[in-house]
Amino acid sequence: MFAINHAATALIIKKVFKDVPIIWLLISVQFMELLWVSLNFLGIEKTTTDEEVKYVGNIHLSYMPFSHSIVTMSGVGIAAWLVIAKLFGLPEVGLAVGLGILSHLVLDLITHSQDIALAPFINQPKFGLGLYFKKPIPAFFLEIAYGVVCWWIYEGSFTLLIMIILFNLANLSMFFKAIPGLEQKMAHRPLLITTVVLIQIIVTLIMVDLLS
Ligand SMILES: [Zn+2]
Repeated sequence: MFAINHAATALIIKKVFKDVPIIWLLISVQFMELLWVSLNFLGIEKTTTDEEVKYVGNIHLSYMPFSHSIVTMSGVGIAAWLVIAKLFGLPEVGLAVGLGILSHLVLDLITHSQDIALAPFINQPKFGLGLYFKKPIPAFFLEIAYGVVCWWIYEGSFTLLIMIILFNLANLSMFFKAIPGLEQKMAHRPLLITTVVLIQIIVTLIMVDLLS
């Protein structure tokens, strides 16, 4: 899922865990993505593209067994819960952060092409419903609807709703092959992709924090 809607997930968790500062939730929902950015910059995980990038389906998250595998994401989620709850004595924060980390796995499994491994060093099979590759236009509407539902559950302000919609609309060209956008410049430039994702993570985190 795109950054704005991972960030919007923090709103649902905040609704349930009212006493947990939203900044912890915003970091938790993006924790595995921040790890993915770091590992891509370090050259440990890899992103590739087709000759031309017309939409998200032309971008391949070809190697990310550490940041995006079912075992590592679930493991980090459970470990974060246990450490924060038991070691720091903050059970509410621990559970909320653990759920935030796990939410990223669930949302990526729904939207991603089959690029999520079971565990590091186990290359096949890979998981993902493949919406981005097979059904990008329904994926776009699913993303925007999901962001709005998060806002609705949270009972956020009108400004927060507009921000969620605008950030989703900013991704329009990523889902519609016929609409040109920044993605055209991403062919064979994986670090540009990583940088754009990092900027989206930071900006959406700040915006949701400010407007929630
Ligand atoms: Zn992800």
